This record gives sequence, structure tokens and C-alpha cells, in this order.
Amino acid sequence: MAVREFKAESKKLMEMMIHSIYSQKEIFLRELISNASDAIDKIYYRALTDDAINFDRDHYSIEIKTDKENRMLKISDTGIGMTEEDLEENLGTIAQSGSLNFKSENESKDDHDIIGQFGVGFYSAFMVADKVTVISKALDSDQAFKWESQGIDGYTITTADKDSVGTDIILKLKEDTEDDNYSEYLEEYRLREIIKKYSDFIRYPIKMEVTESRPKKDNDKEFEEVKEVQTINSMVPIWRKNKSELKPEDYENFYKEKHYGFDTPLRYINIQADGMIRYHAILYIPENIPFDYYSKEYEKGLELYSNGVMIMEKCADLLPDYFSFVKGIVDSEDLSLNISREILQQDKQLKLIAKNINHKIKKELQKLLKDDREKYETFFKAFGRQLKYGVYSDFGQHKDDLQDLLMFYSSTEKNRVTLNEYVSRMPEEQKYIYYAVGDSIEKIGKLPQTELVADKGFEILYFTEDIDEFAIKMLQNYKEKAFKSVSSSDLGIEDDTEKKQDEAEEKANKGLFDKMKEVLSDQVKGVRASKRLKSYPVCFATEGEVSIEMEKVLNQMPN
Ligand code: ADP
Ligand code: MG
Repeated sequence: MAVREFKAESKKLMEMMIHSIYSQKEIFLRELISNASDAIDKIYYRALTDDAINFDRDHYSIEIKTDKENRMLKISDTGIGMTEEDLEENLGTIAQSGSLNFKSENESKDDHDIIGQFGVGFYSAFMVADKVTVISKALDSDQAFKWESQGIDGYTITTADKDSVGTDIILKLKEDTEDDNYSEYLEEYRLREIIKKYSDFIRYPIKMEVTESRPKKDNDKEFEEVKEVQTINSMVPIWRKNKSELKPEDYENFYKEKHYGFDTPLRYINIQADGMIRYHAILYIPENIPFDYYSKEYEKGLELYSNGVMIMEKCADLLPDYFSFVKGIVDSEDLSLNISREILQQDKQLKLIAKNINHKIKKELQKLLKDDREKYETFFKAFGRQLKYGVYSDFGQHKDDLQDLLMFYSSTEKNRVTLNEYVSRMPEEQKYIYYAVGDSIEKIGKLPQTELVADKGFEILYFTEDIDEFAIKMLQNYKEKAFKSVSSSDLGIEDDTEKKQDEAEEKANKGLFDKMKEVLSDQVKGVRASKRLKSYPVCFATEGEVSIEMEKVLNQMPN
């Protein structure tokens, strides 16, 4: 029997697993149970399209068995099973090689951080086991196969005896050491605890034999130990539960279980819509930016379920780009299950749900801004950029939705301010919303162009991000107040006498200005006298729509 080698990447991951770099070893059980549940899902989908298969929910389950004497832990499922090729393909090659690519690009970070950010998958079994055996019989296959590995050196695949379709994963647990206790994974209470913690919403029963102490039948003063196979998980998904039953921890656990993120969500939204369209949704606003958020790899989307059964892992149509950071699930009984993805995109119901969700997220963010300013600022720090892109994109189509959620630095406040706050503070004589652009708040604060406006006692928005000015160009105005760059030649501040003085001075110095223009040639359009400056001798001003800063950005863009 030939020993087969793991693919190079798999070896690397397995090495990390064997050396147990991940502190929460218990998650191996979550991973194996979720694989079992995925396998049952697969047989369920097949049954939808194949009349020959009868899916009877009662026959589908995951079973956990222990054998203390031999230190064996077995996880069995009645899922779709694996053929010999599947075993080779799926267990010999790492599925989520993305985690390894990411790791090699970020060698400086320690393994701990990185592995912690991914669903670690099947190989996590090697954190607690020194031998892993997989016995599987695939649907439509007469022959069962056994995959076996003691780690890094490789694996074997041989034929095996198994009558029913499904998979058994058998772990030979490692010996206990001073630091690590593996025997606990043979203990009923501990297994039950882990299942409850991570796998409570698995939709199929997770069964295990449990021992219960009960009053004796003939003499209820005495107790006896009764062994009985019980379903450990509650199965009813969180979004089908009554809102009043749910505690914040329930939402947080669900977030973690779903791998939405390893942070604690900043806010969750539980929607139970019962009107024109019926759907349930649990949505989250994360606290931290996902590591790949601003990369091409990031995929937005919500999990889509039809009546408790998952039909799409990431339904992008449910979220606009500017809310692409939102995580969560949507379950609707109004969606038909066997619609293909193409049809799904056209689905009117889906569009209605998307619109509704968009509205709810917006409302929630507005509420957050109102109720918990500090949290909102945390949110904005992470995702504000995305909202500004939202205002800018599609020719400002979404500006009405988003303008109240924007924040900018300001000349008068320590923290970012909203446009509404700015406008509500404007003195009556102030005509415009002023802004200044620069690399940092400090640099903007020193710009000569800001002097006159600041001197008048007018607040100035400080734009430190490239996108800021582009976004407000799309808005054009807010509450009927137009935006005005402090570099603009007409600030709407100088009164008539000042203008006359400027003109007089310009005439008097015509010779000097002409000479300056000549020397600077086509680097400037003109040289003028100005009352704007207080302590600086010169500054740039612009006349057109495009500011100096915008010009810089535009010049950097590839043509
Ligand atoms: P992932 O679940 O993210 O795909 P895993 O490492 O957990 O990655 O599993 C790798 C693959 O092995 C799965 O995609 C699946 O095809 C197969 N697999 C694992 N466990 C089972 C199982 N119990 N039944 C059927 N297939 C399984
Ligand atoms: Mg998995």
C-alpha cells in the first residue's frame, strides 16, 4: 500500500496544526461538525433535483461517539460521502490555500494571529489527534474507502467496509502532556459544551450518548444513571428565534461561528419582516476592517437562505457596494429554492429584500450616530471611506442616502463632524460650507488659504483623504449650502470696499505682477492682490472646479 504525499501547501498547514499553534484546540470539533453538516446539505441539494433520492430529514444526523479505552473520538455523518478521488482531492490538498498565501506575504506576523483569522478546516483534527482515519462511502458508489494519516509523512487510501452512505472521521487523540489535556475530548460534559458553543445552530441533529441521573422508577428517592442518545444542539437558527429570547452573547456567538470576523461586532440588526415580503435577517456591522477589505479578494454579500436552507453563501445583490462591510444572513420563505443563480439575480422578491435591507442598515447607522457617537466614530474610522466612495460612485446616485452619515475633520473640533453639525453651527452671514484639502490635519491647519476664513470665525472642514473632495463635488451642496474650497478665488467673504481696494492695489502694482507672471510663465494663470492673507505673503488660489489637490490625484490616475 503506497503512502501518498500531501501537496506542499497542505504540508505547511498541517505542520502548523500539529504544533498546535492555535490556542483554542477545541475548534477542531466545530470544523469537523461543520464539514459533516455541509456534506448533509449536499445530499439535500441532490435530492432537490434528483427524484430518485428521497431526502427525509429524520434520517440525516451527525453522531459523536467516544471510546475512552482506545482514546478514540468518532464523528459520523449521513452526508454525501466521498469517493476515492474525493478523498485524494479534498483531504490531500488544502482547500483554503488563501490563508497560506496570506501568511507568506505577512511573515512578520506570528502564526497565531493569522491562523486565528481563518476557518482552519479538516486539518485542525491534527491539533488533537496523532492519527486521523476517514471512512467514507459516497452516494452512487458501491465501494467505501478509508483514508488514513499520521500527519506530515503522508496518507494512505484503501478500500473499506461501510454499508451506509456517509462519512466517519475517527481521531486517535494525542497523549496528555503537562500543558495539554486531550482526554477532555472524551468527556461527555466537555463535548457537549463545545457543541453548544460552536454548533448549536447546525440544522441537523448532533447526537451523542449522554448519561443522566434519574430517580428510579420504583423508588423515586434513589437515583440511577441512565445512558441515552440525545440531540445536543438546539438546531433552530438564531434568526427564527424570538427577539426577546436572544441575548447579546447569542448574536456575538453566531457572528464567530459563522466566521464573519474575529472582532466583536459593533452593532447587530435583527429584522423580522412580515409585510409585503417576508424575511428574517441578522446583520452585523463589524468593528474592525477585515484584513482583505480594501483588496480585490474581498467579496461582499450576505448568506441567503430559503426557509432555513442555505442557497447562496454570498449573495452580492443584497448589499450595495457602500455597505459591503455588512455581514450576515437573510432567510426568506418567499424565495423558491430551486431557482438558479441567474434567475435569482432577476428575482423581484430579492430586489425588494435588498432595498429593505439597505434602508434598515442606513437607519441603524443613523441611530448609532445619534445614540453612541463614540461607537459611530469607530465605525466611521473603519468604513467611512467606503461611504464616501458610495457618494461619489454612480454619479452621486446614492448621495441622499449617505450624506448624513459622512464625517470630516474640522478646524474647530477635535473629532470628526457631520455635515449637519457643521451647517447647524453656521453663523447667518456665512454663505458656504468651507473646506481645505491637505495630507494631514496639521498641514491643513498651516495653510495660508485658511487664514481669512478662520479669521472670520467660520469653521473649515479638513479633507485629508483623496476621496473627500471628489465626494463633496458630487454632493455639490448640503441643506442648500454650497461647498467652497478655501483656495477658491471667490470666497464670498470679501465685501465691496475690500474688492475695490484689491483692484486699486492691482493697478498700482501692475508692473510687478506682470513681471511675476512672466517669470512664473505658464505655472500660474495670473498674479493678483488679495486681502485674504494675514500672516503669509503669498498663496495659491484656484478659479475652476478642480482644486490643486484634485488635480494631483487626477494626474496620478492612469489614463
Ligand atoms: P472546507 O470545509 O472549507 O471546504 P475543509 O478542510 O474543512 O475545508 O474540508 C475540505 C473538503 O473535504 C471539504 O470541502 C469537503 O469536500 C471534504 N470533506 C471534509 N469532511 C467531509 C465529510 N464529512 N463529508 C464529505 N466531505 C467532506
Ligand atoms: Mg470545513
